[in-house]
Formats: sequence, structure tokens, C-alpha cells
Amino acid sequence: MKKIYNFSAGPGTLPQDALDATSHAVLDYENNGMSILEMSHRSQPIVDLMNNTTDLARELLSVPDNFHILWLQGGASTQFSMIPMNLLSNDQTADYTDTGFWAAKAIKEAKEFCKVNVASSTKESMYNHIYKDLYQTPNATYLHITSNNTIYGTQWKSFPKTLNPEAYIVADMSSDIFSRKIDFNSFGLIYAGAQKNMGPAGVTMVIIRDNIIGKINRHIPTMLDYSTHISKKSAFNTPPVSAIFVVNKTLSWLKGLGGVAMIEDRNKIKAEKLYREIERNSIFTCPVYEEDRSQMNVPFIFIEDGDENEFLGFCSDRGLIALKGHRSVGGFRASIYNAMPLDGIDTLVAAMQDYESLHSK
Ligand SMILES: *Cc1c(COP(=O)(O)O)cnc(C)c1O
Repeated sequence: MKKIYNFSAGPGTLPQDALDATSHAVLDYENNGMSILEMSHRSQPIVDLMNNTTDLARELLSVPDNFHILWLQGGASTQFSMIPMNLLSNDQTADYTDTGFWAAKAIKEAKEFCKVNVASSTKESMYNHIYKDLYQTPNATYLHITSNNTIYGTQWKSFPKTLNPEAYIVADMSSDIFSRKIDFNSFGLIYAGAQKNMGPAGVTMVIIRDNIIGKINRHIPTMLDYSTHISKKSAFNTPPVSAIFVVNKTLSWLKGLGGVAMIEDRNKIKAEKLYREIERNSIFTCPVYEEDRSQMNVPFIFIEDGDENEFLGFCSDRGLIALKGHRSVGGFRASIYNAMPLDGIDTLVAAMQDYESLHSK
């Protein structure tokens, strides 16, 4: 097979180990004589798989015992509504930070279920940084943040404090979950669609503190009620077993490498290498404020007008694919999730240098 480095923002690149294991499991799952695609979610091997995946996630992120880990469907986008629907009533307030496209979608959905205070917004400056001076509500139930803004390439390097000591942080970590350590003390709920940094599309991880649920009277449809999924261990209805399997193998790969602390160091080295080249190179620049630059999604643009398709073609000839920036931003974006090897960064850096030699006067 031709060697490709996939810089897509999502679905993102996955470790080869996880792909190999999946290809076997699709034909014969652990010598059961059946494909994982055909196996009952009530069968012992699959119950074991689900429990093992939860244990792995708990171990890798050091999730405390008073948090539940759920495997749900509907993507991170369903969480935009499920969170306010479950956690507050119409007359209660939640603070939201408007740091990008996904953050804005979370705000829009929350408005259906509670009062929303936008505690900060960088929309006016095309979300090229994170505004950290927050106007919080004294009695807010929670403060919602998007830990990593996939499209604009900004990332909260440290997490804000809630003004209300009773409040907790709710974080959309879809594009940086398992890329760095998390201190759960200030969090009430963390959610992440799998398809950026931990698996394929089809499953969403929700980590939720047990004492924040059951506090409101709203009628919640059974499938959208966290209590349902907690009491049924994410198997109230048919869970996306094959997607959970890929997550399991991705997390096993991560554990084998040395876990989250190790990958966090490696991610730092990868990102620094790429940002250093963008800074040095006379053709490219990064539009994001230095202190907020993401370690997962690295946007860059031409300093002067240039032919974007020519550079994309130049890269793709070298096996570097999916570098086109999001349609709302333009330019380029290299998503360098956990599974992107250092070799991928080196190959991209070399391509940028060669492109510069060809084009500088
Ligand atoms: C991709 C993404 C989403 C949307 O995820 P879906 O699973 O497609 O609903 C939400 N938030 C962030 C930060 C994302 O990167």
C-alpha cells in the first residue's frame, strides 16, 4: 500500500495497529467464528469489550470514581442539546464561551433549554484567539468551553475558573481528548465525538460527574436522558459496537506507547516543529495568536497571494493529503492528532521548504 499521511481534521488518522486489529475483527472476532459486526451486544465477549474500553479510558485519563463514562450515539452535536436539557431548567443560566464554529453551535442549541450568557466571544476577529477575560453569571450552573477549536486552530492551554464556586466546567473536547492530561476537579462533564482523536465516527464519549444529574424536573425523552445510559451501562439500546472496538484498540495503542503524559510530550514536539517552520518559511504564516495555538489543528496561509491548489497538489504528490483549510477560513490546516507520526510532520516540513525554494525570488 502507498504510504499516505492523512492530515484531515475528522475523521482523523488512526494508528495502524487499530486498523489491523479491526480488519481481523471484521472477519472473525477473537476466534468466535463470527464478525464483530454480527455479534450481539448482550453476548459476553461484547459486554467484556465495552467494560474493557471504559476501564481503559478511565485509566488513561485518571477519571475519578464519581464520574461515569458513557458511549453514546448522535455525535458531539447531540450533546449540544442533551447537556442543557439534562442539567438545567428554563429559568437557570449557563455561561458559554464563543470561541469558534462548534462553540457557536453549542450556544444555539442551549438557548432552547436555558438562559445562555455568552461570557466571551472572538467572533469579530475570525476566532483567531481565545478571549480569556470572562463575563460570568454569579449563579450560573456551568461554564461551557470548547477545549480545542478544530476549525480555527486555537486551544485553551489552561482552563478558566468558574465565578460561582458551585458551578462546574462543561467541555467539548472532541478534537483534543486523550492528547493531554486533565485535572477533573473543576469539571462536571466532558464530551468528545470519537472521530477526531480516538476512533471512527459513530460513537461519542461522555464523562459525567454523578452528583450533577437528577436536579431538574423537565421531562426528558428516555434516549436523551443520561440516567438511562448510566443505569444500562451504555447498552439501553444497540450500541455502536464496531466503533467502540476501534476506540478500544486506539486506546490500547496509546497505553502501549506510555499513555497520555507521554503522548502529550510527543504532541508538543510535533506541533512546535511545524509552527517553527511556518514562522521561518517566507511563504507561509499562521493567523492564530501565538499563546493560543492548538497542538492538534495547525492552520496556515500564504503571506502573499498564491495558488492554494498548486500547493495542495504539490503536497499530495508526496503523500500528504487533506491539508485544505476549512471552507470558512481558507488556506491550509494540518491536523496532527495523536496518531500522526513525527515522520508525517518531517515530510510536511520538507515539502514546505521545497515549495519555498521553488517560489521565492
Ligand atoms: C467535529 C466537532 C464537533 C462535531 O462532532 P459530530 O460528532 O460530528 O457531531 C463538535 N465539536 C468539536 C470541537 C468538533 O471538532
